[in-house]
Amino acid sequence: MQQSISSITSPRLYLDNAATEKLLPVVQDAMIAAMQEDLGNAAALHAEGCCARSYIEDARAKVARLIHAQPSEIIFTSGGTESNNTIMETFRSQPVALSSIEHPSILESAKARASQVDFLPVDSLGRVDPKLIAYKKYSLISVMLANNELGTIEPLEEIAASCHAQADHITFLHTDATQAISKIKVDVQALDVDYLSFSAHKIGGPLGVGVLYVRQGVPFRPLLLGGHQECGRRAGTSNTIGIIGLGAAADWCWQEWSCKQWSKVALLRDELCERILNEVPYSSCNSSMQNCLPNILNVSFQGAEGESIQLYLDAEGIAVGTGSACAAGDLQPSHVIMATQHDAEVAHSSIRFSLPLDTKKSDIDRVMSVLPQIVKKLQGMSTIKLGAKHGN
Ligand code: PMP
Repeated sequence: MQQSISSITSPRLYLDNAATEKLLPVVQDAMIAAMQEDLGNAAALHAEGCCARSYIEDARAKVARLIHAQPSEIIFTSGGTESNNTIMETFRSQPVALSSIEHPSILESAKARASQVDFLPVDSLGRVDPKLIAYKKYSLISVMLANNELGTIEPLEEIAASCHAQADHITFLHTDATQAISKIKVDVQALDVDYLSFSAHKIGGPLGVGVLYVRQGVPFRPLLLGGHQECGRRAGTSNTIGIIGLGAAADWCWQEWSCKQWSKVALLRDELCERILNEVPYSSCNSSMQNCLPNILNVSFQGAEGESIQLYLDAEGIAVGTGSACAAGDLQPSHVIMATQHDAEVAHSSIRFSLPLDTKKSDIDRVMSVLPQIVKKLQGMSTIKLGAKHGN
């Protein structure tokens, strides 16, 4: 039976924006308007098909403009996972290097396809050191632009400069910009990347549609075969309504995107962090406050399981994340926190706040009105000796 959020508890406070963002009203309007038209299969030659195609090409132009690419360099996919798998299919049987905190859709698809997978270490805040990469050994380097659990922004420009400076060897560079897009400026030319992935549902667009940017002239091998859609680069009937929603979200981000708006969110994120560290005993912060997306805060609470905190907060009407939503139900400690803190206890006791653009100061007050008691209760039930070394 379907369950409506408003019927559960109201009002809810949604602080799990990095898992999926609410659909923007402009996106909803654009999709509903398109659904009311009798659009055909975009591959067909008749008027209904041509009309669907014109919508898709309009969306492609808007997405290209958002990331400073050519429309012909944009391939529509079913989301970040497919875009990332497509890159690893392109580099099948070749040696690749990945940051050790990539999303599982990069890690697992590389392990399944590449001839060799090396993991680039990160520091305690999740940053890759561009100087430590042995570029010549690899056909592809894949480093995410910003991490989904910590919010850490990677030094992509520096990695690209070293990657593309080699005279005698070509190493291509891919970045997963799924979390970065719309939170910070993403310009494929300034970043100098060869491939870039992202997903519509992280920028206020619909679920089930994404983007793969492929720089003109670089190697490419499709993942899905059996149709000429997307110029033979991605077979399957185009998800016209989803792509229209993605185009509307990209247009909104282009028109409305403002560092200023997100910098206000960053101040609230910083305030939340400070208050947690001051008001919740045995708490530690896993995110950096510099080189970090403006809306992500990852914190650990010694002696309290992240999942338990999440459930107690949920009962209070507050939605937060634990690591990545894709890993929910996975009992393994987060590979991201393990790579940065090297401590399973810190990883198991972490939660992620990811704030939406309309976060208010009263939302931070609301979290702080319940969080200290929840953590205290869980710590009281724990067998862990509080105060022993924990986190950074
Ligand atoms: N990469 C990152 C960094 C992500 O956060 C996610 C979503 N959790 C994905 C890829 C997968 O995107 P999608 O949900 O569109 O498959």
